[in-house]
Amino acid sequence: MGKALIIGCGGVASVTIHKCCQNSDVFEEIMIASRTKSKCDALKAKLDGGKTLISTAQVDADNVAELVSLIESFRPDVVINLALPYQDLTIMDACLLTKTHYIDTANYEPTDTAKFEYSWQWAYRERFEKAGITALLGSGFDPGVTGVFSAYALKHYFDEIHEIDILDANAGDHGYPFATNFNPEINIREVTAKGSYWENGEWVETEPMEIKREYNFAEIGPKDMYLLHHEELESLALNIPGIKRIRFFMTFGQSYLTHLKCLENVGMTSIEPIEFEGHKIVPLQFLKAVLPDPASLGPRTVGKTNIGCIFKGIKDGVPKTYYVYNVCDHQECYREVGSQAISYTTGVPAMIGAMLVMNGTWRKPGVYNVEEFDPDPFMDALNQWGLPWKEDFAPTLVK
Ligand code: NDP
Repeated sequence: MGKALIIGCGGVASVTIHKCCQNSDVFEEIMIASRTKSKCDALKAKLDGGKTLISTAQVDADNVAELVSLIESFRPDVVINLALPYQDLTIMDACLLTKTHYIDTANYEPTDTAKFEYSWQWAYRERFEKAGITALLGSGFDPGVTGVFSAYALKHYFDEIHEIDILDANAGDHGYPFATNFNPEINIREVTAKGSYWENGEWVETEPMEIKREYNFAEIGPKDMYLLHHEELESLALNIPGIKRIRFFMTFGQSYLTHLKCLENVGMTSIEPIEFEGHKIVPLQFLKAVLPDPASLGPRTVGKTNIGCIFKGIKDGVPKTYYVYNVCDHQECYREVGSQAISYTTGVPAMIGAMLVMNGTWRKPGVYNVEEFDPDPFMDALNQWGLPWKEDFAPTLVK
């Protein structure tokens, strides 16, 4: 059917690239372009020989002119941005200049402020509309599948959804005392920030990890989980009419939290540059350099993830609850694509979002979050491409 340019060649991109190659009827040709070309070449060497034609390139995704000339030379139907949130705006600019559809999995974040929100990317709406191209924002798992689950619940089971609790549990064990499952810099910025949730039309802010609950997850068992701010709260608060409360919880083990507290207390999670032996270094970037590469966790991680949404609302005047979730096994992911489940659960929805934009099912000029499209084709594709979902019509609710 067409061509995709994939920017970034880290943990998530590797899964998306494997999945594009499995789906060669849609992804006839892909180009993998990233900062370190050798990583792109290594992946190409592993996957070459199938029906999808693969090429590679070096690109600095902070540089719009470089991106434009790469897009103009390859002429992709879509650009799948799997670099870091810092590159979202430059890649969107390049897509605008070349009139190419855009997909990502994380919203823009400036490098010097640990703050992520959609305002910067939503500001591109009119320009994307005028250019006749689609930007699909947040097509990972959370954000991503959690938004699709919400649209699906609203379409099929509720007249009004009043409450959503998004629960992200990872019972994976990689054997290290401390490591992060995706880019450590982005991960640590997220979990050390203040928490917040949406209630009755406004944001309620909490201290980091202030709100803790225990939940008994299907196929995983009981886990401690903590309330975090998360980007889909912002778009769901606007796109789910009548919503009164949305919260996001993620599980963390005690070892992770103890290490994080210690690193925070000694200043290692700071993003303020410091002077070190004549160089300016950012402590968090230095920490990233000494931590295990998330891509290396695949072979050693055992256990499962369970990510889903619990909804509370009404149907035909009757109160109703509904839980939809996916359980993913780290080792099964590793056997299939050589990555652990966190990269897998993000990389598969990125491929699905790109497929739906490429085949026209989810194409609409402008800038959209996933829940603004018909969820059914995405839900079918999740079952087909490795992330089957399960439903519970009488779930235990989070207090
Ligand atoms: P990695 O750090 O493993 O990969 C990032 C890749 O981007 C690397 O290959 C890196 O190059 C490349 N890159 C970084 N800066 C540039 C640049 N300026 N120009 C070109 N390439 C660049 O991250 P992950 O794969 O773990 O995460 C990828 C994205 O997925 C992130 O935005 C993350 O926030 C998001 N994510 C979303 C989730 C969701 O559910 N929605 C969950 C998990 C992650 P190099 O190899 O040289 O470092």
